[in-house]
Amino acid sequence: MFMYCARCGLIRNEKAESAVCPVCDISFKPVPGEFLTKTGLMFLSQSARMEFENKIRESAEYDEITGSQRDSSNWQI
Ligand SMILES: [Zn+2]
Repeated sequence: MFMYCARCGLIRNEKAESAVCPVCDISFKPVPGEFLTKTGLMFLSQSARMEFENKIRESAEYDEITGSQRDSSNWQI
């Protein structure tokens, strides 16, 4: 299932439901189903993914410094 880290914005496809962000060491949250295909295996589209990424950045939980440090390395994983 697709999971994300609310603090740094890392998005990952994780098998474990209790996965932890390797950058922030906090639990991933599941990506809301509205952004995913019915099977939940992929994003509806590239624009749906970008919309979701923007949502994460607008959240109060998002930490810009952590997010920008992470950006360069593994954003696309
Ligand atoms: Zn994180």
